[in-house]
Amino acid sequence: MSSAPLRLVCASANPDKVAEIEELLIGIAEMLPRPATLGEVVEDADSLEGNARLKAVAVCAASGCAAVADDTGLEVDALNGAPGIYAARFAGEHATYADNRSKLLGDLDGIPSTARSARFRTVVIVAWPGGEELVVEGVCEGQIADHEMGIAGFGYDSIFIPSDGDGRSFAQMSADEKNTISHRGRAFHALAEALRQRT
Ligand code: IMP
Repeated sequence: MSSAPLRLVCASANPDKVAEIEELLIGIAEMLPRPATLGEVVEDADSLEGNARLKAVAVCAASGCAAVADDTGLEVDALNGAPGIYAARFAGEHATYADNRSKLLGDLDGIPSTARSARFRTVVIVAWPGGEELVVEGVCEGQIADHEMGIAGFGYDSIFIPSDGDGRSFAQMSADEKNTISHRGRAFHALAEALRQRT
């Protein structure tokens, strides 16, 4: 394929996420800012891949440049995969992270630790003008704690204990420790590898 340096617009408007992605793609892609005129993309697809595609394609169309987007869900086995793609609004349309954690702990009340298995799944898509795309995924297996553990991170971090860790929740880990085993870290490492092979 092309040997010109890859330039990617990040569909996320979250500066922490952009910085994290930029660092993971050093030497592989140069990150460009999201067009300021583009509003929020409505994520109404029925899958992580569909929602990531909606964001990547919209940003690609608005910028005329290749764009990268990610979408993450939390699948809890005892709840038949819920909240799944609805992780951000599990407790309602305007739910806070704390509301969502509290609903999940409530829904799992009385369920023993052996039956609290869950996983975070992240899908990352790069969309190029002309329709070419690259899709990768990262998964982090774990279980839902029966109480909040730790204060770092965001979302469900304080009630998610990754299987590849030492019993601490994500919220009890440093950002580097979390990134090494997290769904998003794994997805972006897979993306870096796929982009390296493409050039
Ligand atoms: P997004 O697709 O990255 O916006 O993630 C959707 C929702 O999943 C977020 O609003 C969080 O509630 C949850 N989430 C995503 N990634 C993480 C994580 O690394 N830790 C905890 N919660 C997360």
